[in-house]
Amino acid sequence: MAITHGHGNPNWTREETVLALELYFELNGATPDPRDARVQELSRYLRRLPYHSVASRKQSFRNPDGVGFKLQNLRKLATGKGLGNVSGMDRRVWDELGEYPGKVKELSKLIREGVKVAENGEYDDPEVDEEFEEGRTLTGIHKRRERNKKVRAKLIEQRRSLGKVECEMCGTTGTSTNLKFKEAIFEAHHIIPISMAVAGKTRLSDMMLICANCHKMLHRAISSEKRWLDLQEGKSFLGFKF
Ligand SMILES: [Zn+2]
Ligand SMILES: [Zn+2]
Repeated sequence: MAITHGHGNPNWTREETVLALELYFELNGATPDPRDARVQELSRYLRRLPYHSVASRKQSFRNPDGVGFKLQNLRKLATGKGLGNVSGMDRRVWDELGEYPGKVKELSKLIREGVKVAENGEYDDPEVDEEFEEGRTLTGIHKRRERNKKVRAKLIEQRRSLGKVECEMCGTTGTSTNLKFKEAIFEAHHIIPISMAVAGKTRLSDMMLICANCHKMLHRAISSEKRWLDLQEGKSFLGFKF
C-alpha cells in the first residue's frame, strides 16, 4: 500500500468529507473495503460532483481505493487505530461532527439535495470569493433561498408594517425619491448557516433585510473569514456603527 496514494488529486472538500463521514458511520466501525457496494457508490457519486475541474483529476480521482483510504483516515480519528494519513480537513470535520452521526446524516441529505438542484441548473455556482466555509453546495442553497421572490416580498411586507424598510447593516432606506424603485435595493439574507437551518424550510425569522451593497460585502466577509458572521459581528467587521 503506497503512502502517497491519492497524491496529485485535489484535496477533499468539506462537503466531500462530510459524505465520507456519513458512510463511515453507516459502516459501523467496520474496516472499509473498496469492493463494498456502498464504497463504490460513494466513489461514483463523488466523481460526478462538480467541485473539481476535470483537468485537476487523475485517473484515480475518488476511486473506490481513494474512498477506502478516506474512510480509514476517519476511522483513525475515531479509534486511534489504522492508517494515519489524516488531513487538516478530516480533523476539522471530525472535531465538529464526529460525535453527531444524526447531524452528519442531515447535512449529507442537504448536500445531496443541493447537488441535485445545482445539476438542474437552478442556481449559479457561487464565485470563488463568495463561497462559505460550509461548502459550495450549501452556499448555493443559501443564495437560492434568499433569492426566492416570495420570501423577499414577505420580508419587505413585514418591515413595511413595522415602518422599518431599511438595511439592517448600514441603515439606508434607499436614496431614490421614486417610491416605485426605492425598495429595489433591498435583498433578503439568511442569518444562520444553511447547515444549521431547518431542512427544506425558509423561516421569515431567519431572514434579515439588507441592501445589495451590504449583502455583497457581508458574503465576501463570511467567505474570507472562513467562519459565519451574524448581524452584529458582520456590522463590526465591516466597520458599521451600532
Ligand atoms: Zn446596507
Ligand atoms: Zn446572504
